[in-house]
Amino acid sequence: MRKKREDDREKNVTRRDYYEVLGVPREADDQGLKGAYRKLALKYHPDRNPGNEEAEEKFKEAAEAYSVLTDPQKRAAYDRFGHAGLQNGAGGAGGFDPSAFQDFSDILGDFFGFGDLFGGGGGGGRRRTRAARGEDVRYDLEITFEDMMRGMAADIRVPRLDPCARCRGKGAEPEDGLTTCSICHGRGEVVYQQSFLSVRRTCSQCGGRGQIIRRPCRDCKGEGYARIERNLNIKIPAGAATGTHLRLSNEGQPGANGGPAGDLYVVIRVKEHPAYERHDDDLHCRLPINVSQAALGADVQIYTFDGPQILKIPEGTQTGAAVRLRGLGVPRLSSHGRGDLVAHVDVKVPAKLTREQRKLFEQLGEVLPSQTEMDGKGLFDKVKDYFM
Ligand SMILES: [Zn+2]
Ligand SMILES: [Zn+2]
Repeated sequence: MRKKREDDREKNVTRRDYYEVLGVPREADDQGLKGAYRKLALKYHPDRNPGNEEAEEKFKEAAEAYSVLTDPQKRAAYDRFGHAGLQNGAGGAGGFDPSAFQDFSDILGDFFGFGDLFGGGGGGGRRRTRAARGEDVRYDLEITFEDMMRGMAADIRVPRLDPCARCRGKGAEPEDGLTTCSICHGRGEVVYQQSFLSVRRTCSQCGGRGQIIRRPCRDCKGEGYARIERNLNIKIPAGAATGTHLRLSNEGQPGANGGPAGDLYVVIRVKEHPAYERHDDDLHCRLPINVSQAALGADVQIYTFDGPQILKIPEGTQTGAAVRLRGLGVPRLSSHGRGDLVAHVDVKVPAKLTREQRKLFEQLGEVLPSQTEMDGKGLFDKVKDYFM
């Protein structure tokens, strides 16, 4: 076994041992590998060693070693057969899987601040040579309950970045502000080839533009963008609930290099109403009535979003009863029509009586059924039995 590994290493004399490359013991765990790799990657990163080919080699070597040793299958193959173990069979050179690649850009993205080092294209539009869609923008808008009920138009001011008019987004003085990048010669990216790693990264000098700014635009100071506030008139449909997203296409941040703008999402928050509460498309309210109205029935006037309405309280209405007015609820967003208005009856027993009220209640007490009469099923008699 030991002998075999020595033999394999003989055949790969030009390639350094991966553990040696990372400077870790053979039993190093993932944490140890990661730490060692980070240290090397930081030391030899091309951004820190421009034009230094030896550093670039060391950087790629460390990346390769790390990718193999953090893959359990490949590490096992490497431990048994050395570099030869990776050239055929499971975990061989052809088997370099993109998921490992992904981890890889993560670990670097963590501390270099860019995720596209390995061509993963981490989003965020960092690679400026490629047309990229602008970012979506969120705008929170609070509206009143009344506005929600009838729908409304609103003027909003949305801050956004627009391409600078003077330099048309280039960030350089229009006449002679730009010059071709000396590192990538205008290509915008630098590609490293390695046996199974193709490291393609945005040129660090020009940020992928292929050109560098010699004289920054005097309007935007080289940023390429102007911060402006746009006035937009938006229509909020009746019935929009809290959390409703209204999407305004292309009103988000502008795209890069001719890419489309992002979208603007207006997120609605509806203020609470003192009398009405919304449940789906129904409106709910509490309706206090007195004992006489509850017993005799009554026509009660309430104020709704459609003006005053008469609610018919039937004779013998109890606390908790719901009286419904069809079609006076919230306009439905997704279909036609409206929900209902539901009034929840609350029978109020007077807490303090005038002399006259007391007299009338006393008279009423003489003719109303007693407790035992109301307890038709003799429920309390059953409890009484318990003590016998
Ligand atoms: Zn400008
Ligand atoms: Zn360049």
